[in-house]
Amino acid sequence: RLPRVVILGRPNVGKSTLFNRLVGKKLALVDDQPGVTRDRREGKARLLDLEFTVIDTAGLEEAEAGSLSDRMRAQSRAALEGATAALFVVDARTGLTEADRHFARWLRQEAGLPIIAVANKSEGRAAESGLMEAFELGLGDPVAMSAEHGEGLADLFEALAPLI
Ligand code: GDP
Ligand code: MG
Repeated sequence: RLPRVVILGRPNVGKSTLFNRLVGKKLALVDDQPGVTRDRREGKARLLDLEFTVIDTAGLEEAEAGSLSDRMRAQSRAALEGATAALFVVDARTGLTEADRHFARWLRQEAGLPIIAVANKSEGRAAESGLMEAFELGLGDPVAMSAEHGEGLADLFEALAPLI
């Protein structure tokens, strides 16, 4: 059985783009509209010589009630069942939101598995301050990536390989 790596984060940070990058196919729908992915999706990921099952989480917009933070927690609880590690993705171009900060705090306390902070959309100078903010998540050194441009995959490997 392959290790299971769950991709978490609020809508529109690039979770599905990262999922597609890791799986190497367009299995997850990417859209400019937040929260377009309807389902949880799984695929077989390859990152250098690392193989694992990757799970894209979504569907936050379909929950009936509750704050974004509540819905993120509910969705993540299910996705984290049986997971080996999680990637918590933030958007380095917009910087951290309150939902990101709350969710990271909850993950640190409740997830019970290793979590890597991923500062996505890190290509270019517009992301520099967002990357610095990602240290404030308290999840260790964030991995700077551009899922869209395929940058930072070696750094993600370095962070993930010891955990799975
Ligand atoms: P999700 O809601 O977290 O699954 O986010 P998506 O993967 O659907 O991406 C949301 C938007 O961010 C889309 O317009 C993507 O093209 C864009 N995006 C994803 N990754 C990157 C990146 O590395 N850099 C930039 N600039 N945009 C990205
Ligand atoms: Mg998505």
